Amino acid sequence: MADFQTDLNAMHEPSDVGSGIRVFIETYGCQMNAYDSQAIGGLLEKDGFESASDIYDADVVLLNTCSVRELAEHKITSRVGEIRRQRRNADLPPVTVGICGCMAERLGNELHKGVNRVDLVVGVDNYDKLPGMLGELIRSSETKHRKRTATGHRNDAHYVAPPSLYPVNNSHLVTIHKGCDYKCTYCIVPYTRGPQAEKSPEAIESEIKALVDSGAQEVTLLGQNVTAYNWEKDLDFAALLERVSAIDGLQRIRFLTGHPKDMHPHTMEAIGSLKKVCPWLHLPIQSGSNAILKRMKRLYKQEEYLEMVDYARSVIPDVTFSTDIIVGFPGETEEDFQATLEVLRLVKYDQIFSFKYSERPGVPAARLADDISIDEKKRRLAEVLALQEEIWNVEATKQVGKTWTGIIETAARKQGFWRVRTANNRKFLVADDRQKIGDEASAIITGYSNTTFLTVE
Ligand code: SF4
Repeated sequence: MADFQTDLNAMHEPSDVGSGIRVFIETYGCQMNAYDSQAIGGLLEKDGFESASDIYDADVVLLNTCSVRELAEHKITSRVGEIRRQRRNADLPPVTVGICGCMAERLGNELHKGVNRVDLVVGVDNYDKLPGMLGELIRSSETKHRKRTATGHRNDAHYVAPPSLYPVNNSHLVTIHKGCDYKCTYCIVPYTRGPQAEKSPEAIESEIKALVDSGAQEVTLLGQNVTAYNWEKDLDFAALLERVSAIDGLQRIRFLTGHPKDMHPHTMEAIGSLKKVCPWLHLPIQSGSNAILKRMKRLYKQEEYLEMVDYARSVIPDVTFSTDIIVGFPGETEEDFQATLEVLRLVKYDQIFSFKYSERPGVPAARLADDISIDEKKRRLAEVLALQEEIWNVEATKQVGKTWTGIIETAARKQGFWRVRTANNRKFLVADDRQKIGDEASAIITGYSNTTFLTVE
C-alpha cells in the first residue's frame, strides 16, 4: 500500500513554462497554509518561475487563503481589489491574481464573479497544476474574464516543501497528514481540506532527514489533528513520534494541533519519555460546558479533558498547555460560560486563543440560532481574557529566580535582544551581544511582560 503515496513535487517533471514570470505569494491563516505556500514556491521554481519580492515586482500574485471565518474571506476579497488599485496607482500593468487554499476549495468558480474577481482558482489538492495553468494564462491573448479553476480532493497525493525554501528559524514545518475526519459543527475545515489522509511514515522520515541534512535542528509536525495520525491502522501518532525521534541529528520535535479525544495515555507517555519531543500540548477545549461541547460535536466531556490534563502532568515533565476557546456559541447560557472559566482556573494554561462565536455559512452550526447578543459575547470574551491574565500573573511570578534554557529563535522586538524559546514553549529575552540564531542560551528569569520573560545572564 505504501507506494500509493505520491509526493507531487517529486513526480512533477521540471519545465521552463515559467521562464521570465515573477510570482508573489501572500499567505493567510494557519501553519498548514504556510507550509503549502512553501510547497507551491517549490513547484513553481522547478518550472522556471521566479519569486517576486512584492506585488509591484510581480507578474502574478497568489493569495493562499483561509476560510475559517467569514471575515477572513471578506478581507481577502477586498485585498484582491486593493492589489489591483495599488498597481494602477503605481502606473503598473494589470497583474494576474490567483486564489489558492481553503477559500478556493470552498467557493470555486464563484471567485471568478463580481468586481474583485480573480483569474485563477486552485484548491488545496491541485497545486501541481498551477505551473501549467499559470504559464498558459499569462501567455494567452485573452484580456477579459480570464478564468481557470482546479478544485476537488485527491487523498493519495501530498506536497513536500523543499528544505532550501524554508525561512531561517529553528522549527521547520512538516505536514504529516491533511484534512480531518471530525465534523465539529462550527468548523469549515472538513469541507475545504477534505477527509483525513496520512503522509506515509517513510515520506515523513525522508522529508525530515533532508531538512536535517540542510541544517535543521527542529521540526514541527503539522496537521489539523496530528494526534489522530494513523498510517494504515498500524502506526499511530505515538509510534510516529518514536520513529521521528530516531532520526540522527534532529534535536527537537514539536507538533500542532491535537484533538483532545485522540490524546491517549500511551501518546502522553511517549511524549514524556522521548527526549526530543517538546513538552508543550496545544489542546483546544473550545468550551468547558458539556452541553455546548455536545452541540459542537467535540466528542469529549469536560471531566475527560481535565483527566487527560492531569495524566499529562503526571507523565510529561515540565509540560505546559495552551488552548482555543469560543465564547457565545449558540445556546451558551451563563452557567455554560462559567464552566469554561472553571476550566481556565483548573488547567492554568500558558496561553489561550479566544474568539467570539460568529456564524459561518456552510457549516452545521449555521443551522443553530446565533442567539447570544454581540454585547454579551464581548463581555464574555473580556471576562475570559481578564481571568487568563489573572491566572497567568500568578503562574508567571512563580518563575522568577529560576534558570531557563532554550534555543535562540529570532531577533526580539526589543532592540539588542534575541528571543529564546524553551522546549515547553515559553519565551525569554537575552542580550544579542554574543550568540546567534540556533544557539542554546540560559538565563535567570527576573520578570515578565505579557507572555515574554525577562532575564539576566
Ligand atoms: S477537529 Fe474539529 S475543529 Fe479541528 S479541524 Fe477537525 S472538524 Fe475542525
